Amino acid sequence: MKRITLIAAAAVLWAGVASAQQAPIDWDKIQIKTTDLGNKTYRLEGQGGNITVAVGTDGIIMVDGQFAQLSDKIKAAIAAISPLPVKYLINTHFHGDHTGGNENFAKSGTVVVAQDNIRVRLAAGTTNGISGAKTAPRPPEALPTETYFGGTKVVEVGGRKALLTHVTNAHTDGDTWVYFADANVLCTGDTSNNTKRYQTIDFANGGDIRGMVAANEAYLKISNDDTKIVVGHGPLAKKSDVAEFHAMLVTARDRIEKLFNEGKSEAEVVAAKPLADLDAKWAATEEQAKNFTRMVYNSFKRS
Ligand SMILES: [Zn+2]
Repeated sequence: MKRITLIAAAAVLWAGVASAQQAPIDWDKIQIKTTDLGNKTYRLEGQGGNITVAVGTDGIIMVDGQFAQLSDKIKAAIAAISPLPVKYLINTHFHGDHTGGNENFAKSGTVVVAQDNIRVRLAAGTTNGISGAKTAPRPPEALPTETYFGGTKVVEVGGRKALLTHVTNAHTDGDTWVYFADANVLCTGDTSNNTKRYQTIDFANGGDIRGMVAANEAYLKISNDDTKIVVGHGPLAKKSDVAEFHAMLVTARDRIEKLFNEGKSEAEVVAAKPLADLDAKWAATEEQAKNFTRMVYNSFKRS
C-alpha cells in the first residue's frame, strides 16, 4: 500500500535554510543508494542526512539514521553490504532527518551514541527559532544511551575506529563530527554541506556561526585532497568544497558581527542586505537569504 506522509515541517527545515512550503514525501518511492568509499566504508543516501557505514570484523558503526519511515530500507541496504550487526549508531546532531531512525535501530540492539545535549533536546522537544515550529519530545527508546560531553570519544568495533569530536555551538549545541582515519572518511553532519547553498544555523537550539567556522576550520586541518567528506546534505564532498563553504561562513560572520557590534537591530541588518553578493550564489530564494542573515545575526546574541 502506498504511504504518503506530510512530513513535520520542523524535520525538513533542518535540511537547509528552508522555505515555508514543504512537499509531502512519498516514502515508498525513496531508494537507498550505496556508494563504496573504500576500506569497507560506505555512504548511504536516501531522504534526510547522508549516512556513513563502516564495517569491522564483528560489527558495524553507522553515522546518522535518517527518518523512521526509511529504517527497514536502510537496514536492507546495510545487510546487502554485510551480514554483521550494526553495533553503534552515532548521531551527528538531534534534528529528525538524522535521528528519526534511532528507536528502530535501538530495538534491534544498536547502541545510539551522541553528544549529551542531543539526549536532552530529544527528550524535551524543541522549537525552531525562525518559524516557531515545534518538534515533540521523542520516546525514551529514541534517546542515545551512550553519551559524552566535550572533547573527543572513540567508538570501536573489530578493526575499526571512529573518532568523534564535539564542536561547541555550531549547527546546534550537540554537534559531533566523525573521522575514520583508516578510510580517510570524514562525516560532518550539518556543520557543513555540499549543496552550494546556505546552511541552517539552529540558533534557538545553541547554533552559532562562530562554531560553524570553527568546525570547518577543523575539517580543513584534518583533511587532504583525497579525503572523502560525507556532509549532512549534498553529494560527497572534497576538501576544496569545504574550503569554499568555509570562506562563505567567514565572510558572513565578519560582516554581520561588525553590524551587530555597531548596535544595529536584526531588522536593520536584514534590510541592509550585508550578504547581497553571497546571496546571489548561496541563496535559492529571497527568503533563504533573509533567514541566513537572521541566523548569523542571532548567533551573536548568544554572546
Ligand atoms: Zn540539521
